Amino acid sequence: MLLGNLLVDRVRVTPNLEAIVDPQNRSTYEELNTRVNQLANGLINLGVQSGDRVAILSKNCQDMLIVYYALWKIGAILVPLNTRLNVEELCYMLENCQAKVVIYDEDYKECCDRLREISSIHFMINMGNENNLDDFHLHTIIDQGSSEEPFCDIQPIDPAVIIYTSGTTGRPKGVVHSHVSLFENALGSLLSGSYREGDRYLVPLPLFHISGLIITLMSVLHGMTMLTMSEFNPVYTWEIIEKERITMMTAVPIMLKVMYQVPGWIERDISSLRFISSGGTFVPEELIRAYHEFGISILQVYGCTEHGIATAYRSDRMGMDKCHTMGREIHFTKAKIVSPITGEVLPPGKVGEIALKGSHSIIGYWDNPEETAKALKDGWLYTGDLGKIDKDGYLTVVDRLKDMFVCGGENVYPAEVEAILLALKGVKEVAVVGVPDDKLGEAPRVFIVKEPNSDLRKEDILKYCYGRLALFKCGEEVQFIDQMPRNTIGKVDKKILREKYLSS
Ligand code: ATP
Repeated sequence: MLLGNLLVDRVRVTPNLEAIVDPQNRSTYEELNTRVNQLANGLINLGVQSGDRVAILSKNCQDMLIVYYALWKIGAILVPLNTRLNVEELCYMLENCQAKVVIYDEDYKECCDRLREISSIHFMINMGNENNLDDFHLHTIIDQGSSEEPFCDIQPIDPAVIIYTSGTTGRPKGVVHSHVSLFENALGSLLSGSYREGDRYLVPLPLFHISGLIITLMSVLHGMTMLTMSEFNPVYTWEIIEKERITMMTAVPIMLKVMYQVPGWIERDISSLRFISSGGTFVPEELIRAYHEFGISILQVYGCTEHGIATAYRSDRMGMDKCHTMGREIHFTKAKIVSPITGEVLPPGKVGEIALKGSHSIIGYWDNPEETAKALKDGWLYTGDLGKIDKDGYLTVVDRLKDMFVCGGENVYPAEVEAILLALKGVKEVAVVGVPDDKLGEAPRVFIVKEPNSDLRKEDILKYCYGRLALFKCGEEVQFIDQMPRNTIGKVDKKILREKYLSS
């Protein structure tokens, strides 16, 4: 299955259905496909060939979708870049994948001017400013391109995308997905959730991330309309949900939290909204229950760049008593729990590393055989996450293997401590990391961002913890900070926490 063909099929079935809405544009599937073909033919004329790596640096907009499908139609490999990275990080990625072309949003021109030094780059394409004479212009290429379907001889197992991991635990790795792996992940997600043709899917998360990318495919595959926002704003989000009759959206947990705090959101007519899918990090159970009270189901999704947007998901249909879990594997996916020490498969309830199997796992990491060999063994993807599967088959992620630490011989899972502390009144955000300790080997350090006007003291935090957790899990060190460092997808950046606070 080739990704470009999904769009061709969709146009045949529902040409006039709205495909994509951004703050400036609305296009039907037929209009989208025409522009995709024009760009695809224009890129061929400029010498882009199948297998070439073409990077894009842009905030969410309709043009991103046009670029994605144009590249897939000509067999070029899409490299979506994270717009919040610095030049050095972007250089690393472009060098690593030897990108031939960079397509960029005018906002990132200054950054791109520095990227020009990378020898593999043949040319750049500016998505906005037509007075910029340094580069080609996206809209000129589109306007001058033929709208004929381009022909390209590629196979479903050929690489379609190189997507760099968020680098939460180290240097970003170029995850390579094929056409078929992305297709099966999109299809598996659709079959597992309760999606309907004609649904209107709001996507405030970046389209350069695996979740945004898979949702673009799910929309085309199933005949849904995707609405994107270039920047997340909780008040505006509720406005859009009401105005555009949004039926579902995707949001990371921190977004869910701030949306819930918007005064008066429940008075709006948001009756169209059936569910919000959320994941990427732990979704607090209280939040799931709080939204449930108002008839909005939070679909908790567990996934990783290597295995696609969703590996497992939990919806309210599965019963609220499974709220604390990440649910069950989606279609075409199998999960097992393996002992990180002996490699044996562990029985229900035991914590070990989560390994996944499914045809939509990655091909490997681009130009990184060592990391590929570590992650892929006998067709199983080793996620680096610790988790357990209960007797009913429900998966719970316990923590990242790299975040777990041993304190005086006992395993500490920071996520467990964080979940407990998050429920304490006055705590806005919390993160726990293991720090070197002379007596215990490693000991916990708790970082807290307080709610405004909260007078919480270290003693209150420790007292609260000691009543609920074993002493070794919460330690004695609490540090209040003004802001929690987060990466582009809203996850707490523990690397920065360690660097910034533990060295001081
Ligand atoms: P890197 O691989 O570069 O260190 P990363 O692990 O954050 O970065 P992503 O692919 O962006 O890379 O995120 C996947 C990870 O996010 C998972 O392996 C898991 O640790 C975490 N995760 C995803 N969904 C959930 C969830 N619902 N609950 C808890 N953790 C989650």
